[in-house]
Amino acid sequence: MTPAESIARAVLRIFRAQKAEADNGTESFGRWHARLTAALDVPIVDTYRQGGKRAKAPADMADDLVSAAKERALFTARSINDTSSQWIEEGREPEDVFSADRAASIGLTEQAYAVHQTVALVAQKRGQKLTWRIAGGACEFCRKMEGRTRAAGKSFGKDKFGNLLYHPPAHANCDCSLQITGKPKKPVRKKSYGRDLSPWER
Ligand SMILES: [Zn+2]
Repeated sequence: MTPAESIARAVLRIFRAQKAEADNGTESFGRWHARLTAALDVPIVDTYRQGGKRAKAPADMADDLVSAAKERALFTARSINDTSSQWIEEGREPEDVFSADRAASIGLTEQAYAVHQTVALVAQKRGQKLTWRIAGGACEFCRKMEGRTRAAGKSFGKDKFGNLLYHPPAHANCDCSLQITGKPKKPVRKKSYGRDLSPWER
């Protein structure tokens, strides 16, 4: 199973229970934040771990990647529930709001987010630069991002909702990727008395 499929499966399990409530008119999204976060936690942490392996993250970054994953699971659970609640209020059918297609799209977006955030964090740790690269069918928004280069950790600009973008995806179904440029700086060595040396002290 791909990471996207594991994430989609976790979302769909929750969606089924939420749809049953919505069909009875008893849904209450606030109650679902913790359960959705918990369901997303495992597959999202796994995705960041795999991303870290692929990006050859140094071993001392493992905790940072897990924290980033947990923060993302919390954010994603909240935004999924906010969207569901808004759609139900607007009178959309529960079978559309809690569809397998939506869960699949969330899985793909979260996989892309995890992969690119991992790449960005590793590049930041190494003091490298990132260049935004679009794929074939990129939208108008992403075409404007093509070729932008930033020091990893600096934003590429804002997305359509005004959130700062540090890496793709810029939106659901965004196929953009990152190209890493610049020589990685050497890991900071310690002198015998244990003081951290900045790169220009070495
Ligand atoms: Zn894009």
